[in-house]
Amino acid sequence: MKYETESLPNGSAVCGNCGQPIPPNSQVAVVISGRKAVVFHSEYHCSPAGNARYGFWGKGKLESVFGEIEQC
Ligand SMILES: [Zn+2]
Repeated sequence: MKYETESLPNGSAVCGNCGQPIPPNSQVAVVISGRKAVVFHSEYHCSPAGNARYGFWGKGKLESVFGEIEQC
């Protein structure tokens, strides 16, 4: 499944929390709503609360989305 994501011309994503770019080929946190996906830095301070998953941001697109992040 392909998700619509925001990306920069150089292939970076934009973090939905801090607004800073996320370089290509990074592990990210992902929140999906419908066909849109918002990616976040996977660091704790940028991870969104609730319903987040781990994903992998490739060059200019979300390559994969996997397990849900455990909330503790
Ligand atoms: Zn961030």
